[in-house]
Amino acid sequence: MKNKLFEIKNLNKKFNDGTLALNQVNLDIYEGITIIIGPSGSGKSTLLRTLNLMETPTSGEINYKNKNILSKHFNINEHRKEVGMVFQSFNLFPHLTVLENLNIAQKNVLKLDKVTATNKSIFYLEKVGLLDKKDQYPGKLSGGQKQRIAIARSLCMEPKVILFDEPTSALDPEMIGEVLLTMKILVKLGMHMVIVTHEMGFAESIADQVVFMDQGEIIEVGTPNDIFTNSSKKRVIEFLDKLT
Ligand code: ADP
Ligand code: MG
Repeated sequence: MKNKLFEIKNLNKKFNDGTLALNQVNLDIYEGITIIIGPSGSGKSTLLRTLNLMETPTSGEINYKNKNILSKHFNINEHRKEVGMVFQSFNLFPHLTVLENLNIAQKNVLKLDKVTATNKSIFYLEKVGLLDKKDQYPGKLSGGQKQRIAIARSLCMEPKVILFDEPTSALDPEMIGEVLLTMKILVKLGMHMVIVTHEMGFAESIADQVVFMDQGEIIEVGTPNDIFTNSSKKRVIEFLDKLT
């Protein structure tokens, strides 16, 4: 039996302009790979961002490993060390080399010395297959390589869980494969991941749990087979039909 990571209860997010981005969301996220799919504007990013408190919900509950992350005594910085995030746009510092990009957060956040940080950076650059780029500047790299560096940077923080928000949607088609392959390496490393993606083949091949959202609500949760093959929900079937 897999352990539960997040327990989300009656979660709502209303933005200042009145948009209801999350509407009574209830969801348990277990160890392993959770994929969130659904139409644009359905609340996928908002839900993901509440998990490391980049977005504060309006009401409801989020527990991480049985701790209430919305409590005012909760240590957000400690939580973000455990729950990392990889964005659509890689957010690398252009004036720093790849190695310096990987070292900087380890120095600032984890307070590691340079030798320890560098050793860890080298270890994870090797894992994503880009050790030979360590002295390059991000401007010299392809989009796919930048995203793999961003993944290595996240791994250097040694999180328990990594959240991915459409990690391949800013990439040219020929670069998507290498990033998905890198994410499959993380699965082998035993990393727990919550991934928002439109790459359905990838989702189906690696997910333990698939979540379908529409209009701020969770419509269906199940195994890849439940969602991609056997769904009886109209909105799920229509969404998947449109993609093929
Ligand atoms: P998705 O990631 O599924 O495309 P989002 O979570 O980004 O959806 O957005 C859900 C809804 O919330 C959309 O209607 C979007 O326009 C709205 N929204 C997202 N961020 C903001 C914001 N900062 N202010 C107001 N509305 C927002
Ligand atoms: Mg989004």
